[in-house]
Amino acid sequence: MKYSITAAGLTAEPGTKVQGFVPVPGTKEQIPVTIINGREDGKIFLATAGIHGCEYPGILAAAQLAEALDPEQVSGAVILVHCVNMSSFLGRQPYVCAADENRKNLNRLFPSDGTGTVADLICRFLTEEFVRQCDFHVDLHSGDMVEELEACLLIANTPDPEQKAMLTDAAKHTRFRWRMNSGGRTEFYNSSAIDFGKPSLLFERGGAGAWSYQEAEDDMADLISLMQYLKILPEVITLPVAEFGQGEGKKALTLDFQKSLNTEQQFFVRHEWTGAEEGDDGFLIPFVSLGEDIREGQKLFEIRDVFGRKKREIRAKHDGHIVIISRTLSVHAGDDLITYGEIEKK
Ligand SMILES: [Zn+2]
Repeated sequence: MKYSITAAGLTAEPGTKVQGFVPVPGTKEQIPVTIINGREDGKIFLATAGIHGCEYPGILAAAQLAEALDPEQVSGAVILVHCVNMSSFLGRQPYVCAADENRKNLNRLFPSDGTGTVADLICRFLTEEFVRQCDFHVDLHSGDMVEELEACLLIANTPDPEQKAMLTDAAKHTRFRWRMNSGGRTEFYNSSAIDFGKPSLLFERGGAGAWSYQEAEDDMADLISLMQYLKILPEVITLPVAEFGQGEGKKALTLDFQKSLNTEQQFFVRHEWTGAEEGDDGFLIPFVSLGEDIREGQKLFEIRDVFGRKKREIRAKHDGHIVIISRTLSVHAGDDLITYGEIEKK
């Protein structure tokens, strides 16, 4: 930008990159942030990762992207919040905010008025310092430590049909095989769209407490494609990508926006997130696997008590393709168990 960009007290002058930990007021939390400010005006792109601290590919992608992007390539600005939930990341705590006395799930709290405990203060801080000034938001997730996942992209539950159409068009320039429309409300990206009017997407890539350079590269490539779509980055760009710990060698990632349309991408006309209900505590016994195509009424799980006695069955509400499945033996009321989507017929 031809002017400086400030977020959470960190200021990047035109043509510069700044990086540091920013404190969340009223807490002991520090969040790692990079701001890359170009010299020319353009949109402000916000990518946030690690709201669930054990969802690793996006956190790695943020680090790689922060290192690779040169402010001279940027028209507008890029703000990267590398890992929102550092207490969960460092503490290896899936789902919850470990620093919060009630161990709340950050991604169920938006928008927050900032009253409450540490997690509420983090939510308020994110929206006020970052979302308010951005033009586009992507929140990077994975299956959490206990979930297997096929990469899928969710479009925020925006009330604006033009914005939804633009997001759908932009999403077709990502590597995601599966695309769906969120019906949610309290997640970070949904709040960005619903409460602040910002176009926003959620990436789900990787899972089960694992990570790979390929997943990070895919996240990074998709963020770059979206920035190309928004004309923040040039139509053709080559970036050096560090694979930390892989010697001195850097590989080059070249992305040509003209070749980025994903003709393989498929849309879920509807999808189902099934969670455990009150009284479900015990064993989760699966009868299906990740990536399987299922039929309405098909048995997905048995819930059994810890003695192994059957309590109930969970069956598919409609036909679909399984993109997320929980792999724990344990089950407890409120746990996410499975996500499947009905593939659009062409
Ligand atoms: Zn998540």
